[in-house]
Amino acid sequence: MTTIILKPHKEESVLRFHPWVFSGAIARIVLDATHRAAAPEEGELVCVQSADEKVLGAGHWQVGSIAVRLLAFGDERISGTEDEWIRGLLLKRIAAAYRMRQRLGLLREDNNTYRLIHGEGDMLPGLVVDVYGDTAVVQAHSVGMHQCRKAIAEAIVKEVKEVDAVYYKSDDTLPFKAQIEGEKTGYLIEKSEVRNQKSDNIEYWAKENGIDVRIDWLRGQKTGFFIDQRENRALVERYAAGKDVLNMFCYTGGFSLYALRGRAKSVHSVDVSQKAIDLVNANVERNFPHCPNHKAVTADAFDYLSEQRAQGHQYDLIILDPPAFAKHRDAVKNALRGYQRINAKAIEMIRPGGILFTFSCSQAVDKEAFRLAVFSAAAQTGRKVRILHQLHQPQDHPINIYHPEGEYLKGLVLYVE
Ligand code: SAH
Repeated sequence: MTTIILKPHKEESVLRFHPWVFSGAIARIVLDATHRAAAPEEGELVCVQSADEKVLGAGHWQVGSIAVRLLAFGDERISGTEDEWIRGLLLKRIAAAYRMRQRLGLLREDNNTYRLIHGEGDMLPGLVVDVYGDTAVVQAHSVGMHQCRKAIAEAIVKEVKEVDAVYYKSDDTLPFKAQIEGEKTGYLIEKSEVRNQKSDNIEYWAKENGIDVRIDWLRGQKTGFFIDQRENRALVERYAAGKDVLNMFCYTGGFSLYALRGRAKSVHSVDVSQKAIDLVNANVERNFPHCPNHKAVTADAFDYLSEQRAQGHQYDLIILDPPAFAKHRDAVKNALRGYQRINAKAIEMIRPGGILFTFSCSQAVDKEAFRLAVFSAAAQTGRKVRILHQLHQPQDHPINIYHPEGEYLKGLVLYVE
C-alpha cells in the first residue's frame, strides 16, 4: 500500500480524529510497487504515517487540497488484503450506523425514511446513504467510495434487514475532473418491483412521521427527498393551526404536508421546478384527498414574492428553504446578499405577530454569517424581529465533534411584529 508521510507536528489533527489530511501537510509519498505513475491514483487506499513513521490511519487518496479522507485511525489496523479490509470496515461502520438509527427511534411503523450514512458523521467520509423503506439510495462524493460501491451495496443489504434494493446516484456528486470508471447511476442491487419502477414509472411511497411521501430517486433531486428537514417540519406543524402558510422552495412539499396536518387555514407551495410541483400535488392528494386549502405554484421565488407583495398579500407563517446559495467559499459574499434579499422580501410579507422559518443549507456559510444576513434583512425592513428557535440538521445527520465542517443546515424561527 502507498504510504503518505506527514510533516512534523501535522499528525496532531489526525490524532484528534479529524478525518482529512490536507496536501500541505504531506512531507513525502512512498508509492507501492504497483505504480507506474509518479503519484497515487485518485481513490486508492493509502496508509498515513507521522514524520517519525508511526501509523496514524488509512483512507482514500484524493486529488485536491484534501489529499486523504481517513476511513480508519491507528486503532483499526489494516489486516488481510485491501479488499477484505475495506469490506470488513464497511460492514462494521454500516452496522454501527444502523444500530444508532434504531436507538434514536427512527425506524418505526410510521417512519421508514432516514439517513443511514452521513459521511464523516458516520466515519465514512465521501459516502451518503438514505433509506426509504426497503430501498437505499447511495451517493459517492469521492472516487474511493465510487470504487467501493458494490461492497457498500452488499454491506447495506446484509446489515439493514428491511433493505433489499440499492440504487446508486452519483452523477452530480463525484469530483467532476476525476476519471471515473463504471456507471455513476443505476441499481447496484435490484428487486423485481423496483425494476418495474424503472420501466413503468411505478410510484414509490415511504413514510415520514406518519406522512406518506412519494420518493422518485430516479428523477428527483439528490437522493429523491430531503430527509434533513424532518424535525424542522414537525416544528412547523406545531405552529400551523389557523394560519395562512407560504412554503417557498417547497420541492416535494414536506413542510406543506406538516402544515396541513397541523390544521393550517391555507397553504401555498412554491417551487421553480414543475417536476417538484407535480410531486407536491401528488403528496397532498395522497395524504389529504381533495384538500381545498392547498395551492401549488410553479414560479421563481423572488418573482413570486414581489408579485404577491404588489398585490398586497400577506401570510402568517412563511418557510424559506432555498438551495445552497454558496456551493464554494468564493461564492459566500454573493450568497449572503441572496439570503439577505430573500429574507427581507419574506419578512415584509408577514402579518404582524407572524412567524418566519428561514434556512441555509450552504456548508460554506456558517451559523454566524447566516444570522448576520438575516439580521441585515430584518433591519432593512424596520420590523421588530425576535429569534424563537435556532434549528439545525437532525440526529441522523450527525456531526463528528472532531470535524465541525460537517455542520451545514442552519435555521432560525423568527417572530415578526
Ligand atoms: N424545502 C424542501 C427542500 C428545498 S430544496 C423540502 O423540505 O424538501 C430547494 C428547492 O428550491 C428545489 O426544489 C429547487 O427546485 C427550488 N428552487 C431553486 N431555485 C429556485 C427559485 N429561484 N425559485 C423557486 N424555487 C427554486
